[in-house]
Amino acid sequence: MSTKKKTMKIFADPAKFQRWSRERRLAGAKIALVPTMGYLHEGHLSLIAAARRRGADEIAVSIFVNPVQFGPNEDYARYPRDEKADIEKCRAAGATAVFLPTPETMYAPDHSVYVEENDLSLGLCGARRPGHFRGVCTVVAKLFNLAHPDFAVFGRKDYQQAQVIKRMVRDLDFDLKIVVAPIVREKSGLAMSSRNTYLSVDERAAALSISRALREVRPGPAGGVRDRIVRAIEKAGLKTDYVECVDSVTLKPVKRVAKGTAVLVAAYCGKTRLIDNREIV
Ligand code: AMP
Repeated sequence: MSTKKKTMKIFADPAKFQRWSRERRLAGAKIALVPTMGYLHEGHLSLIAAARRRGADEIAVSIFVNPVQFGPNEDYARYPRDEKADIEKCRAAGATAVFLPTPETMYAPDHSVYVEENDLSLGLCGARRPGHFRGVCTVVAKLFNLAHPDFAVFGRKDYQQAQVIKRMVRDLDFDLKIVVAPIVREKSGLAMSSRNTYLSVDERAAALSISRALREVRPGPAGGVRDRIVRAIEKAGLKTDYVECVDSVTLKPVKRVAKGTAVLVAAYCGKTRLIDNREIV
């Protein structure tokens, strides 16, 4: 077996990326897409590893901080970026292509078509971040049309996002599979996130209260589970955005936490909004 690594392609131009993927598909390659906003960490790299394990011949990682999914008072401008380091991480993880478009090449000045999901995206992060999932669905639909992958890999860290994307794929007949990979955590338990870079040492310690509280969740009345989490994270100095116990498929609130429940948390640690979740299996 050859140990020679393929050279990794780097694309900025959407049309060139689309042409490459079309050619590879026609040549019989199985294509995987890993959409990201960059500033890559082990969580992102685990998605590349998952694509490799599933036998993808080409693994394309998109790195794009999508302005359309950020609200006016959110962190679009200061979102961390490090293209050079990201490219090297992709190469080392076994990606075969990286797609790094700009907002100008992704959105024409008179761009006027958006994709909206109107059920799963209404609550949770969707309720607190108006327009967020419309931006996510729109950019992911565009990435699917550019890469035309056999499958795309998303992280369970963004639990609602994965469900919304699956619904979009079903309802709009995208010809691909969605793979959802487990949450990668630091040794401390903190869910990895590009936004963790915003945290001070003290904030990082306080942020641990989220994963700790989620680990301690036991089956029982949802109200009690919710109260315990809110109490624990607020005691650590965080501000609750939401804590909800929902059905893991419909994302509708449940009365009891049991098998098939997802417990979802969003909280502010200083100015940084963190999310985490645990599915009861
Ligand atoms: P982002 O760059 O934050 O938009 O994330 C890109 C993809 O990586 C999404 O599918 C996320 O769910 C996934 N992801 C981010 N953090 C993690 C993590 N800690 N574990 C697993 N997947 C993650």
